[in-house]
Amino acid sequence: MSNIIAIVGRPNVGKSTLYNRLTESRKAIVDDMSGVTRDRHYGQAEWVGKTFTVIDTGGYVHGSEDIFEAAIREQVLIAIEEASVILFMVDVTVGITDLDDDIAHLLRRSNKPVFVVVNKVDHHQLHTDASTFYALGLGEIYNISSMTGSGTGELLDEVVKHFDEVQEDEGSLPKYAIVGRPNVGKSSFINALIGKERNIVTPIAGTTRDSIQIHYNQFGHEFMLIDTAGLRRKTKVKENIEFYSVMRTIKALEEADVVILMIDATEGLESQDVNIFHLAEKNKKGVVLLVNKWDLVDKDHKTLKRFEEEIRNKTAPFTDYPIVFTSVIEKQRIFKAIEVATKVYENKYKKIPTSKLNDVMLPIIENYPPPATKGKYIKIKYVTQITGRSPMFAFFCNLPQYIKDPYKRFIENKLREHFDFTGVPIQIFFRQK
Ligand code: GDP
Ligand code: GDP
Repeated sequence: MSNIIAIVGRPNVGKSTLYNRLTESRKAIVDDMSGVTRDRHYGQAEWVGKTFTVIDTGGYVHGSEDIFEAAIREQVLIAIEEASVILFMVDVTVGITDLDDDIAHLLRRSNKPVFVVVNKVDHHQLHTDASTFYALGLGEIYNISSMTGSGTGELLDEVVKHFDEVQEDEGSLPKYAIVGRPNVGKSSFINALIGKERNIVTPIAGTTRDSIQIHYNQFGHEFMLIDTAGLRRKTKVKENIEFYSVMRTIKALEEADVVILMIDATEGLESQDVNIFHLAEKNKKGVVLLVNKWDLVDKDHKTLKRFEEEIRNKTAPFTDYPIVFTSVIEKQRIFKAIEVATKVYENKYKKIPTSKLNDVMLPIIENYPPPATKGKYIKIKYVTQITGRSPMFAFFCNLPQYIKDPYKRFIENKLREHFDFTGVPIQIFFRQK
């Protein structure tokens, strides 16, 4: 159950331009947080209320012309296995090239939804030229201009029809995804938890496998672990190892309730980790951070605090999540990590009774009301938690449009102070009453 669009195609057709358009638009509307490090290659987008992740495959290939071609073919195969929808981009100003033909050949044999996106159709005269791309044998073509945005709406209208609605799987077990860069200790962690070496299955190229889910039921804890480490695809091109691992991580993340992000204490939180962290945050997932290989760090009484501070500074403004310092090798705090994840899961789904919420929040608001704007006083009258997959609160007031972000953050901090929402993103809405 994941919604991932992969944009494939040869270099220079306009993949990253479209990628930017799809992800920036959302950024402009929804994401007003400062200090967010964005990855250039994957990000969240939204169309008519459906959210999805877009991957620009072009970001993962570098090198000379002949490496390009092999890498691109392999990416198409990985995208066929892992993405939900594939946008195959071609360039109207160039026409069909040999590489386009090769890619089309691979895509025709897949049973994933494929959209032929003819880019750089900047004006009407080019529509006639675009019709040559029917020869790719992939059905309908979509003429767009990534530069101006024309045609992208029609394209997305069709694309999102292939996406799942976010579903509430009532009664299903909590799902925890173990993610992190290679070698941080994910496999070792899972092996330590389940008390045995699990089988590492290397799938044969071309076969589709869902992420590995391991049923854990011991010591009073029952949940599903979503494992991203157990599957390693053989890739011929080095750069595609990262592309593949990012695909698996995003999929696991979208399926999970709580994301357990593991880092290596000797390396710290790197920009890749921060990107995964923000993706989890934007997807409204619970987050637990594990600093593994703690045994390798020279410690004094300040080390732990300093580590924590450094990490939280890098993920700000979202800083209210648990950090657990583990050593899988020395079996330190492994079970603690699970207890913490369980707590975060509970926080994600808990509901604060409306009366209690108002008893706590209204006096705080009374003492520190939103600043008057344009001579108008803003009066917040009542608050309630909206039912959903992560905590959402609606504050009813006379002039919701005048409430600014700093006040919103103040309210969020107070909610976090009084009700434990450690590890979960909170959404706050101000509504007219
Ligand atoms: P990528 O290598 O497939 O990611 O391609 P880029 O997004 O980097 O675009 C390659 C070139 O095509 C850049 O110079 C873009 O400005 C240009 N380009 C992208 N989209 C359009 C478009 O819709 N119309 C025109 N005329 N140029 C475009
Ligand atoms: P993965 O790629 O994230 O699944 O990482 P692995 O579980 O394969 O671990 C990578 C390497 O780190 C292996 O050699 C492990 O033995 C080692 N390792 C894992 N956890 C720890 C730890 O807590 N301390 C130390 N010193 N080494 C660890």
